[in-house]
Amino acid sequence: MTTVHPSSNYGFVSLVGAGPGDPDLLTVKGYRVIQQAEVVVYDRLVSPEILALADELAEMIYVGKRLDYHCVPQDQINQLLVDKAKEGKRVVRLKGGDSFIFGRGGEELEELAQHGVRFEVVPGITAAAGATAYAGIPLTHRDHAQSVQFITGHVQKDGREIEWHSLAQSNNTLVFYMGLKQSEYIATKLLENGIDADMSCAIIENGTRREQRVFTGNLTELASMAKEAVSPALIVVGSVTSLHDKLKWFN
Ligand code: SAH
Repeated sequence: MTTVHPSSNYGFVSLVGAGPGDPDLLTVKGYRVIQQAEVVVYDRLVSPEILALADELAEMIYVGKRLDYHCVPQDQINQLLVDKAKEGKRVVRLKGGDSFIFGRGGEELEELAQHGVRFEVVPGITAAAGATAYAGIPLTHRDHAQSVQFITGHVQKDGREIEWHSLAQSNNTLVFYMGLKQSEYIATKLLENGIDADMSCAIIENGTRREQRVFTGNLTELASMAKEAVSPALIVVGSVTSLHDKLKWFN
């Protein structure tokens, strides 16, 4: 499909990342555009305190998803954004974390671009940055990790298989989103590809929220740790996670 030139009669869509949980982690720009919005289209992981920033007359539309169950199919969300913008509305599309990190933000913007709707992107603090900061786990550290990778654990549905051999480096921190149900598979694949069985790892549940919990152990313990944890949770694999005991500060 060819891209239509933006129409000045159309409204405007701000794609806003709400951050990982603690409402104070919203950006100042995100705060401002939410207050100015006439329509807010939001997901499940957005804090109630952030939704409460919207004008009382703003139309609030929930399109949240769960892992195995999509409340509103993605093409309907795309259409909703296009329709509201074409009505001339100032729309905020509000997502947990950052919209471009496992948030389908790119897909929604492609649809807006195709329909000639103008938009902007307001970045958010992604869970990998926020939850590890609140857990006292630095993603890189000169003595531990020279690189970090964000990986979806939700491989079956999200398409291509992960290239496990490229992840398995001792000085690389791995952060798995949506990995809780796949923890046994993740541990098996990393062990098969040469990561040590005693490599430290952590699960951060409800990162940056008051109810945050952090589980630590080694790779062979990951699957049993995951049985204790509930969603939303991140799996972090790498020796940086051993710093949690020394650097934990939250709660
Ligand atoms: N766009 C979001 C990620 C959406 S995918 C972002 O940038 O953070 C949803 C996954 O994110 C969850 O399954 C979980 O793995 C992770 N996640 C989101 N919020 C979290 C939180 N507060 N604590 C731990 N993990 C979180």
